[in-house]
Amino acid sequence: MTTDNKEIILSGIRPTGRLHYGNYFGAIRHFLRLQEADARCYYFIADYHALTTITDRQEIYRATLDMLRTYVACGLDPHRSIIYRQSDLPCTAELTLLLGMVTNIGHLERGTTYKDKLSKIQEDPKVEGNPLSYGLLGYPVLMAADILIVRADLVPVGDDQRQHLEMACDIATKFNHRFGEVLHVPRPLGRDALRLPGLDGAAKMGKSDHNTLDLLDDPDTVLRKIKAVPTTTDPAPLNTDSNDPEIVLDKMPSGVGVLYRLLSLLAPEEVYLDYLDQYRKGGKFYGSLKKSVAEYVSQFNAPIIARYNDPAHDDAFIEDFLRVNAKRVTPIALETVEACREAMGIGHSLYRA
Ligand code: ATP
Ligand code: MG
Repeated sequence: MTTDNKEIILSGIRPTGRLHYGNYFGAIRHFLRLQEADARCYYFIADYHALTTITDRQEIYRATLDMLRTYVACGLDPHRSIIYRQSDLPCTAELTLLLGMVTNIGHLERGTTYKDKLSKIQEDPKVEGNPLSYGLLGYPVLMAADILIVRADLVPVGDDQRQHLEMACDIATKFNHRFGEVLHVPRPLGRDALRLPGLDGAAKMGKSDHNTLDLLDDPDTVLRKIKAVPTTTDPAPLNTDSNDPEIVLDKMPSGVGVLYRLLSLLAPEEVYLDYLDQYRKGGKFYGSLKKSVAEYVSQFNAPIIARYNDPAHDDAFIEDFLRVNAKRVTPIALETVEACREAMGIGHSLYRA
C-alpha cells in the first residue's frame, strides 16, 4: 500500500506482436476494471522481457509504440493509470541482479515456461529468435523485480503467468528472511484468471506462437482465422448437465473449446446456451457456430480499431505520456532498490544520494 492507502496494481505485456484475445481476457479487461477502482495502477510494456524473443532493433520499438496505442484504444488512460516502458526504469535491472543472489537455479530450471521454451529451442534453435540464454532462464527474476520494485499488492495476469507470480512471491519471501522485511509480497492471483487456447488448438494463445485472434483483426481476417480453427465432426460427449464454461470447455476438443470460450465471453448467454445444446445433440452446426463467433468478435473489435486509428493517438502523444509516466514511477522504484542495497550491506548509491 502507498501512504495514501491505495492498492498498488502492476502488470505488463511484452511487445512481441499485436494484442490478442488471450491478452485481453487474461489481462487487459482486469486492467480496465482496476483503473475504475480507487487504486494506483502501473501498466508497463515489457520491452526488456521481449529481448528473449525479438532480435530486430527496428521491430521492438515500433511494436512497443503500437502496443501502447492499442492499450489506449482499449480504454487504458495514461493520465489515470501509470503506463510506462519497462526499460525507462533501468533500476529494475539492478534489482534483478540483487534478487538473483537469493534465487535458486534449480527453481528456475523447473519453471514450466522455461522448460517449454527450452524444448522448443532444442527442436528449432531459431524459434525464440535467440539461442538459449541466461536472460531466458532468468525471466522470472526480472518479472519479480518488475513486481517488487513498485511494491505491488496485486498482479492481474493470465493463468499462464501463475507460476511466475508464485516465484516472485518466493523470491521476496526468501529475501526478507535473509535480509529483513524489506520487500512487499503481493497477494496471489485471483481465481478468475483464464487461459485462452490458441486458434490452432494449442493449450495457449500466444503472440510468439502465431495462433492468435487479434484485437485489431478486421472482419475478413477474423472470419478467415475462425473458419480455419480445427473442429471435429464427432464431438466428445460432455458427460455433465452443467453449462458452466469452466466445466464443459475442457471436455471439448481444444479447437471447439476456443470457439465456445469466445462465445461465452462475447455473446449473450442464450446464444452460448443454444450452441451448447446443439453440441450435445450433435449434427452439422460448426459452419453456423463459426460464422456467429466471427460476427461477435468483429463487433467487439470495431470500436477498438476505430480508436486505434484516431490520429490524435500518434507517436508523439505516446512518447509524451511515456516521458511523464517514467518520472511518476521512478521515485518509488529507486526507494525500493536503495532499501534492498542497504539491507544487503552495499549501502546507498553515492551517485544517486
Ligand atoms: P508471448 O508469446 O510473446 O509470451 P503472450 O501472448 O504470452 O506473448 P505476454 O506478453 O507474455 O503475452 O503476456 C501478457 C499478458 O497476457 C499476461 O498477463 C498473460 O498472463 C496474458 N496472457 C497471454 N496469453 C494468454 C492466454 N492465452 N490466455 C490468457 N491470458 C494470456
Ligand atoms: Mg507470454
